[in-house]
Amino acid sequence: MPKSVTRRAGPSICPLLLCLIASFVPTAASSGDDAFQLLKIDGYNGKWGSTELGTGAVVSYAFVHAPLYFAEAGNCRHLVPMDELAKRSGISRTELRDEATAAFRVWENAANISFIPADDPDQADILIGAQGQPAGRAFANVEFQAGSDNGVKSIDQARVCLNPEQPWKVGFDGDKDVYDIRYTLIHEIGHVIGLDHPGPSGQVMSFRYTERYQDLQPGDLRGVERLYGTSTRSLAAEDSSN
Ligand SMILES: [Zn+2]
Repeated sequence: MPKSVTRRAGPSICPLLLCLIASFVPTAASSGDDAFQLLKIDGYNGKWGSTELGTGAVVSYAFVHAPLYFAEAGNCRHLVPMDELAKRSGISRTELRDEATAAFRVWENAANISFIPADDPDQADILIGAQGQPAGRAFANVEFQAGSDNGVKSIDQARVCLNPEQPWKVGFDGDKDVYDIRYTLIHEIGHVIGLDHPGPSGQVMSFRYTERYQDLQPGDLRGVERLYGTSTRSLAAEDSSN
């Protein structure tokens, strides 16, 4: 008899219940094609900037340059530079940076939130790195500031970490055992701006990895607009930035 049986429920970007330090509350704000779930930690929702839902924010991010350790963190406790991950997967530093920029831009285009790269990780709101103690595929960690309004707290700091021992790729090729780094980052950035899993599938914020779509789905869009309000970017501005 086998000692254990592995039940395969489809590839998961971050294992449910382990993805965030938060206790996951499996009650989606809605069900169906436009389902979303706001992140809840200790009974509080969180967003960057003002605690008033539907208001914009500007958030900085940086890749870590040196190992960092966060003793209190539930996830991404050991954060190391992405060099080893990139080398193993044959992804260049430039590609990695470009994929991260593209992932942040997806959310920028969807709501009134802007992301600016910071040179100094010490000054960044969101830190991105590889896991110093590899596990799963990818995780996010979110920490709130003290104080709240109407059950919402401001996010103080957040981290995204990827497992350097897993294979990664740039772009979809149908092989769901190797995750696309941009899709994964879009999902994890969704967590660090205040969104949780609405369920297993149908949205980028769903916890199962898919290559059926690269763009945010209706529930992702409703969720991020609920947090930060409608995007102020015009199509003309978007065009001129390319
Ligand atoms: Zn997740």
